[in-house]
Amino acid sequence: SKLEREFFELQDQLAENRDQPATTADGQPLQLLANINSWVDTKAAVAMGACGVGLYRTEFLYLTHADVPDEEEQLDDYRRIIEQSPNHRVTIRTLDIGGDKTVPYLGHAHQEANPFLGWRSIRLSFEHPDLFTTQIRAVLRAAADVKGQGREVRLMFPMITTLEEMRRVRTMVRRTKQQLQQEGQPIGEVPIGMMLEVPAAAVSLDCIMDIVDFVSIGSNDLIQYLMAADRDNPKVNHLCQPLSPPVLRVLHSVIRTCNQAQKPVTLCGEMAGQPRAFVLLLGMGLRQFSMSPAFVPRMKKLASEVSIPAAEEMLQRVLEFKTTAEVKRFMTRNLRKIAPDFELLDSV
Ligand code: PEP
Ligand code: MG
Repeated sequence: SKLEREFFELQDQLAENRDQPATTADGQPLQLLANINSWVDTKAAVAMGACGVGLYRTEFLYLTHADVPDEEEQLDDYRRIIEQSPNHRVTIRTLDIGGDKTVPYLGHAHQEANPFLGWRSIRLSFEHPDLFTTQIRAVLRAAADVKGQGREVRLMFPMITTLEEMRRVRTMVRRTKQQLQQEGQPIGEVPIGMMLEVPAAAVSLDCIMDIVDFVSIGSNDLIQYLMAADRDNPKVNHLCQPLSPPVLRVLHSVIRTCNQAQKPVTLCGEMAGQPRAFVLLLGMGLRQFSMSPAFVPRMKKLASEVSIPAAEEMLQRVLEFKTTAEVKRFMTRNLRKIAPDFELLDSV
C-alpha cells in the first residue's frame, strides 16, 4: 500500500540517525534503549541505534531449554549479551514466568483460575530458591568483567508488589554475593532495581524506593492490573489504554517520585514506542525509554522535533482531560503541528 511504501522510505531515512545521540529539540539528552528476548536481538539493538539494552527478558532462555539452564549456560548467555549490546549496557530481568508462559520442568500442572493474579514471576522465583539463586549468581559473575565509561550491568526483579518482597530480594542478593566472594569468584558492581508493574507498588513507591537503585516501569502489566483488564483478552483489552487519564496520573506520580528521590527511572512497556505517549512521558520528566529495537529510530526522530517545554505544556493540558478520547484528540492535533511525520510513525 501507499502507506507502507511511505513508511519504508521513512524507515530508510531513519536508519541514518543510528549514530547520533538522542536529544530533544531543545538539546536535552535522552536514552533510548532496546527490549530484547535473546542475544539475537542485540544485533537489532545495535543496528537501530539504541544506546543499550533496557530490558532483557530472560524467560526465553528458560523456555527454549528442555531443563533448567545451569549456571554456566546462563553465564555464557549473559556474557554474550553484554559483549554484543550497545555500550555493553544491559538490564537483565530475572525469570518472569507463570501467568501465560509456563515451563514443563517447573511443574505447572494445576490450572490456575486467575494466572495473571497468581503464581507468576517473582512469586514463583521465591518458591524456587535454588533456581533463583543460580540466576543471580550467573548475572553477578557475568558482570565481573564489565568496567569502563558507560558500561553497566543491572539486575531487575519483575512484579514486585510489596516492600517485604524487595527486602527479601536484597537479602538474597547480599547472601549470593557473600557466597561468591567466599568461593573466590570475581563479581561485578550490579545495581538492583524493581519493575513497577503492580498498582500496590505504585501507591507505596515512596517506601520501597529507599531500597532500590533504580525503577523500571512495566507499563504493559501496570496498565492491565490498574484497569483490572487482561491485556490479552480481546473482550476487555479496550480498557488497557496508555493514554487514559487514570494511567497517566499513576505514571506521572511514579516518575515524579523517582525524580524527586533521584533514582533512575525507565519505562519499558509498549507505550515507550508510541508517539503520543512518548511525548507525554517526556513532559512527566522521563528521560530513559526502553522499547522494541524497531521503534528506536522513530522515537529518536520524534524527540528531535519536540522540546521539553512543549511536552510539559501538552502534559499540563492533558492532565485536565477526563476521557481517553480527549487526550488522543488533543495529542494528535498538537503533534501534527510540530511533528508532521508522527501519524506515519504511529501507523505501522
Ligand atoms: C511490561 O509489563 O510492561 C513489561 C515490559 O514486561 P512484559 O511485557 O515482559 O510483561
Ligand atoms: Mg511485565
